[in-house]
Amino acid sequence: MNRVVIVICDSLRADLITARDAPFLTELGQRSARFAAHSSVFPSTTRTSAASIATGCLPARHGLLGNTMALDEGNGLVCLSVGKPDFRDRLHRATGRTLHVPTLAERVSGAGETAIAISNVSPGAAYFLDPDGFGWVYNPAGSYGPGRRPLPAEEGLAISKGAEGDSAATERFCEEVLRRRAPAIALLWLSEPDYTGHHIPLGSPAHRRAIASADADVTRVAETVSSLDPTGENILFVVGSDHGMETVDETIDLDRLLIEAGLKRAPTSSDVVVAPNGTAALLYFADPGGPLVGQVSRFLATQDWVEQAFVGPDLAGIGLPTGSAMQIALTLKRDERANAHGVAGHSHIVRDSLEPKDCTGFGQHGGLGRNEQRPFLFVSGGAFAPGTHRGRSSLIDIAPTALCHLGLTTSGMDGRPLPRHPTGTA
Ligand SMILES: [Zn+2]
Repeated sequence: MNRVVIVICDSLRADLITARDAPFLTELGQRSARFAAHSSVFPSTTRTSAASIATGCLPARHGLLGNTMALDEGNGLVCLSVGKPDFRDRLHRATGRTLHVPTLAERVSGAGETAIAISNVSPGAAYFLDPDGFGWVYNPAGSYGPGRRPLPAEEGLAISKGAEGDSAATERFCEEVLRRRAPAIALLWLSEPDYTGHHIPLGSPAHRRAIASADADVTRVAETVSSLDPTGENILFVVGSDHGMETVDETIDLDRLLIEAGLKRAPTSSDVVVAPNGTAALLYFADPGGPLVGQVSRFLATQDWVEQAFVGPDLAGIGLPTGSAMQIALTLKRDERANAHGVAGHSHIVRDSLEPKDCTGFGQHGGLGRNEQRPFLFVSGGAFAPGTHRGRSSLIDIAPTALCHLGLTTSGMDGRPLPRHPTGTA
């Protein structure tokens, strides 16, 4: 039976895969189909990316619009963290649904097959891989079986973020999931190098150690895959990241600026609600058709810290919905300056009142910057030939590629199955 194994190294930028820090990935890239023009989605945040990898759709279609989102739970719009364990239930209560399109787990379950995910990132990013419980999702904050049946603690995932927890997750993924349970789709989401990259400078010794730990974990999975399928005919092996990172150089308090400009009544008012997403922000309006949208848009046009703003119908061009309370998305000013460790790319970020810490000099993402939109993707097995693909690919192409390998329909997805040969002919 054909199977798909997916490993995501959170935040690992394609250009930071070097022989020095990631010797195995460097070698794997040389003997895989390597997608050199691979991009994330917008916002380039982990939770949005997880939903796009799981559904093969852009946020406009799946509806998960960032690491934070404004929800109206009956008392007006409030910005919430999508990462919290209870967000999935709050979204369902407030809107009557979770993701708007089916996930890989739902699609393979319809064909009588199974999907199992082990995710060592936020509960939100884990649960939106399969929010309606068609397969198994394991996360330290709580694990679920089919029907969203909570698994007992002894079956759960008692690990922490970082290299040590990732290594434990990898061990369990290889021995229990790949060898014993052998599902049609097995996905491992590592916390590194994202977890470390958010707390230290990119390219510093600690960041390079975090990249090396992800490299060691991928090595372990690759060895297991090749022992299970020495010819590579049955197992499609997909290794990639969800986005890259830029270095934070300044934090913008957008709530305060809007209040000072007379465009927002108070920090917690619902007239306009800022959903910060690192180097990007999405703005929700109590009256999406009202004049405040245009007033805020004109204000943003005067601000030198704004890189790009997308308003109303323009949101469709970056894969966001046009008919929701979210009416403006913006990215913050960035440039290609290198940091002290020679890693290119700086960007401003929007202050996050849910996590008000100083991140200057550390890694962040969320926007459309060159380096945060630089995930990597290597595909091997399943008739994929080694070689470099120069054509554009995106996170949304992973799900249709997986379904194609399993012989299932990819209809209704925004993404397309990736070509098996660099010439573009499958
Ligand atoms: Zn991520």
